[in-house]
Amino acid sequence: MGEGLVVERPRKRLFVALLSLSLLVVGFMAYAVWQVSYLGLREISAYLPLILGVALAAVFLFTGLGIVGIVGAILGVPFLSVFQKRTYALINLLFPIAILLGKVFGFDRRKIERSFIAVSNQIIHQQHIKVPADRLLVVTPHCLQLASCPHKITRDPMANCKRCGGCDIGSLVSLAEEMGFHFFVVTGGTLARQTVKNIRPKAVLAIACERDLTSGIQDVYPLPAVGVMNIRPYGPCYNTHVDMALVRQEIENMLSDAPSGEKETTNG
Ligand code: SF4
Repeated sequence: MGEGLVVERPRKRLFVALLSLSLLVVGFMAYAVWQVSYLGLREISAYLPLILGVALAAVFLFTGLGIVGIVGAILGVPFLSVFQKRTYALINLLFPIAILLGKVFGFDRRKIERSFIAVSNQIIHQQHIKVPADRLLVVTPHCLQLASCPHKITRDPMANCKRCGGCDIGSLVSLAEEMGFHFFVVTGGTLARQTVKNIRPKAVLAIACERDLTSGIQDVYPLPAVGVMNIRPYGPCYNTHVDMALVRQEIENMLSDAPSGEKETTNG
């Protein structure tokens, strides 16, 4: 059986636990730095150790509140949304440490990434982001196209896909036509970034594997990006699929009724 055929429900708590642990590690390191530099700083001024200590404690507290915000988003506690504002900056900062700690405890990197995507999606859902259809960009990797399809769809999927039913690209093209969002097929991260630059969307829905979604979501920050994992019955990067019902549901959640040009709203 190919990987990704059975979609395992990702556990959000894994990522939150690793993130919290990362914060403790960073806190411990900051304390060690403070201890080592204490005498040297006191030589310069009696106030310097205190100033550095307060600054480090403030950063630690701010980061801790960010994690409280993430937990709040997962639990659906709206009053904690104020702490979620800088969530991705915090995640970007601690993510490499969380992956490293995950490895130490024997967690597969993919499992951690799946957990991150679930957490990230939950935060975006919690913010109730609404954008007009023409400010929503949906991107998918090239591997979603049937490998034997002769049509070049990376330039213009709307015009070049014949919607023969051979793969999910045809369904996405039809959905884009029905709902009015931008739809592009990209061959890699560089083209994905270029597409975001050209379209200048207010929100993104990306379909990809764990690795690409994780880096993509962090790359486009502060743009809100919902990730939908692809399904890989034949292994990675070959004739992949996507749950179209889930894609439709996520897009419907993000679309406002506002006509083109009107400002999108969030309450997060
Ligand atoms: S749906 Fe479009 S992309 Fe997929 S095989 Fe048919 S023509 Fe090719």
